[in-house]
Amino acid sequence: MKWLRTLMIGFGALAIAVVAAGFIFQRQIGETIFFRGVDAIAGADRAAGLPDGLHIFVCGSGSPMPDPGRAGPCLGIVAGERAFVVDVGSGGARRLARMGFPMGRLERVYLTHLHSDHFDGLGELLLQAWVGGSRTAPLPVAGPIGVEDVVAGLNTAYRVDAGFRTAHHGPAIADPAGYGARAERIEAPTPTAPSRIILDEGDLKVTVILVDHAPAAPAFGFRIDYKDRSVAISGDTKESAALVAASKGVDILFHEALNANMVQALVEANRSRSQQHIAKILTDIQDYHATPEQAARTASAANAEHFLLYHIVPPIPSPYFTAAYLGDAPNLYKGRLTIAQDRLVVSAPANRNDVRYQMFN
Ligand SMILES: [Zn+2]
Ligand SMILES: [Zn+2]
Repeated sequence: MKWLRTLMIGFGALAIAVVAAGFIFQRQIGETIFFRGVDAIAGADRAAGLPDGLHIFVCGSGSPMPDPGRAGPCLGIVAGERAFVVDVGSGGARRLARMGFPMGRLERVYLTHLHSDHFDGLGELLLQAWVGGSRTAPLPVAGPIGVEDVVAGLNTAYRVDAGFRTAHHGPAIADPAGYGARAERIEAPTPTAPSRIILDEGDLKVTVILVDHAPAAPAFGFRIDYKDRSVAISGDTKESAALVAASKGVDILFHEALNANMVQALVEANRSRSQQHIAKILTDIQDYHATPEQAARTASAANAEHFLLYHIVPPIPSPYFTAAYLGDAPNLYKGRLTIAQDRLVVSAPANRNDVRYQMFN
């Protein structure tokens, strides 16, 4: 057995030598890997490699509650050559940049409603769209009544910064005419006619849907049709018959979710520690969101082929908790059900039936 001992000592010495080399040449190895990584991803338009179709970039699958793995609600939409963003919560703009979202083609931001967690990443997105996209006109931001105030406030808040950017990079890069946002109010559909087409150009159609998130009203969901593919996005809502009706037969449904049992556990814990005001807020929020089961009923009634939960409340610490979070939802919806993750791209190529999932890291 002497040979075995010699062999083990040899392997041990080799392992120590590799670790030692990794430590001694840390700077050189780090530089080599970094520069190769930069060469592969910096400045790349990753959407250019996607097939013609409808692609949803999950730039934020979280909610206002702090979640290290999830930015606030944010979905980037690529429809053929056109690009939009639906909501941009905190951290969403950074996710878009990291994922190689085609910022230079961004035409418009749609806001589902004016709870701040749905636009608290908008200032950052406006800056990226302006200097990153070399915009020569303000970015249209479409949303319910009140969007004018949101846009006016952000334009004011970022004006000083915009002056610095133009002074430093020059007007060819940071054109003062392209700075900021321009508000577009979307008139709310009525309860009797709760959805309406608001954009109908060639292969692309955008429909606004009146959902129920009172007292945050009006609150919208959206449906986007490109060629023969479609996605519906709930925004924040209770279980909504209007959303079911407008989402009939969609390829993909993104629906918000709140697990009431988990939130109730947070209520009890906060109450037991005399955090009454937090307990009150966590109690109140349960009446204007949908549970995973209610969202699953909507997906099933709409006959959605693919169903993703986003705006996850409360945060779950790891994918291990998926089954606990979903509860009975998998019994109520028989298609493909996923809890969306940040950096996921869901693709529905035109003139096909399949839907693809890939991570853009
Ligand atoms: Zn909301
Ligand atoms: Zn929200």
